[in-house]
Amino acid sequence: MRNSLSVALPAGLAKAASFRANAKRSIAELLAPLDRVAANSPNIVINRDARFEADGESYVLPRYMFVGPKGGDAPIRIGIFAAIHGDEPEGAYAAVQFLQFLELYADLAAGYCLSIYPVCNPTGFEDNTRHSRRGKDLNREFWRKSTEPEVGLLQAELTARSFHGIISLHVDDTSAGFYGIVNGATLNKNLIEPALKAADAFLPLDKREVIDGFPARNSIVRESFPGILSSPTSVRPRPFEIVLEAPKGHPAYLTECAFVAALQSILTNYRKFIAYAQNL
Ligand SMILES: [Zn+2]
Repeated sequence: MRNSLSVALPAGLAKAASFRANAKRSIAELLAPLDRVAANSPNIVINRDARFEADGESYVLPRYMFVGPKGGDAPIRIGIFAAIHGDEPEGAYAAVQFLQFLELYADLAAGYCLSIYPVCNPTGFEDNTRHSRRGKDLNREFWRKSTEPEVGLLQAELTARSFHGIISLHVDDTSAGFYGIVNGATLNKNLIEPALKAADAFLPLDKREVIDGFPARNSIVRESFPGILSSPTSVRPRPFEIVLEAPKGHPAYLTECAFVAALQSILTNYRKFIAYAQNL
């Protein structure tokens, strides 16, 4: 089938297709639409100060801050992290979509200051590999005295921003559907359940009793690997920490919609929780 297709392609087109297959994925291309929107937006602040070197090349760990309309008190700080595994570009594209969506519907982010990191593993994103170009799974390196520059930069952000909540976007090629990973806190349950329901409108949920080797219930896993991207271990009270995992192999637009819907749900419900807590 593949052969007959390549024979059928005109020579020029076949050459272009094979060039694309071998070419590195482009971070500039990913971010271009966002940068165009940000140029005219009073809400989006671009930060390209976080830089590191890989193979003699200079890389940026891009950060976008979205400052929503004022909600009354000091803004709620949330960090959204995507593509720490470079072969999960769907999360990066969803983060870009989410920012563009917020630009149109800024009230959804009322009271929030969102820090969004669409490409946490820039070399892996370019190479389409889970690991960074230095061969490290960056999502096993946090708060373990890692010398990986990307981890150092992200840890500095996690420390300086002192987030109220952290959301990581991943794609799992072994999963049957969308699922979430949270720790045991009741708040996390109250945030992840409606978020999964929102995602369910676009992708099936993973209903298995064991997901990625961990026991699961109602598409929620409560354990994870040590060293994953998380808040500094000393931070009290602990921020909410949610990992959203989409299944691989579904149409890109449905995966992006599922992530965006889940993120929107978490913001809406956390704002309710804060308002309720302040009225206690
Ligand atoms: Zn991942």
